[in-house]
Amino acid sequence: MLDDSSFEVLFSADEIRSRIGILGEQITKDYDSVGEDTVMIAVLKGSILFYADLVRQVQLPITMDFIGISSYGDKQESSGVVRLTQDLSTPIKDKHVIVVEDIIDTGLTAHYLLENLQTRSPASLKLCSLLHKPDGSKKAVDIDYLGFTIPDKFVVGYGLDISQRYRNLDYIGWKK
Ligand code: 5GP
Repeated sequence: MLDDSSFEVLFSADEIRSRIGILGEQITKDYDSVGEDTVMIAVLKGSILFYADLVRQVQLPITMDFIGISSYGDKQESSGVVRLTQDLSTPIKDKHVIVVEDIIDTGLTAHYLLENLQTRSPASLKLCSLLHKPDGSKKAVDIDYLGFTIPDKFVVGYGLDISQRYRNLDYIGWKK
């Protein structure tokens, strides 16, 4: 059995769903004229549930791709060491790119990723993140589409893990 009784709900499945509906509408409106040339990139693994729900709210003929970045390992604090573990399957030159992240904490991961992708000459590059912890910031990054701002506490569920577990919770919570 999945014992999630030690977690308190921060955002329920319903709250997440309705926020994603709004983000999807915004992206649909903003990319209306360039939908065919738009690539939405999921940053593995944390963003996959958010990504899967978000792309279904974007009513445009986008393409999908995936990139892997090392983050915390099993620790609950940023190491500052960022590494590409899996690259995109197709070039993004002249494409309108939206990077979809689970959470921006120190900003180190997103900063590294955006710099890396920028060198590939996309037509445009924007960042979408489900969560943002502004108090954890070490590197400023602009978040173009944001789900929720949260306090500097460790959260789990809806893609976010503790030692690779609990990603499959349909809500976001933290330890009671
Ligand atoms: P940053 O480089 O911005 O410090 O961290 C980005 C990555 O750290 C996220 O993609 C995520 O994998 C992990 N992370 C940051 N804060 C949390 C948190 O509260 N919970 C979980 N599960 N992962 C986090």
